Amino acid sequence: MDPQPEPVSYICGDCGAENTLKQGDVIQCRECGYRILYKKRTRRIVQYEAR
Ligand SMILES: [Zn+2]
Repeated sequence: MDPQPEPVSYICGDCGAENTLKQGDVIQCRECGYRILYKKRTRRIVQYEAR
């Protein structure tokens, strides 16, 4: 079974609105349409097991 992709919070580089995007979503602010979003600091370290 695949683990559920966790939504990631992004901060718009223009208006500062928080956008929660899932994997595969378009990186674009929903408030103003700006296309540069900054990844918010996550509380835990995300690690991928590389094999
Ligand atoms: Zn925006």
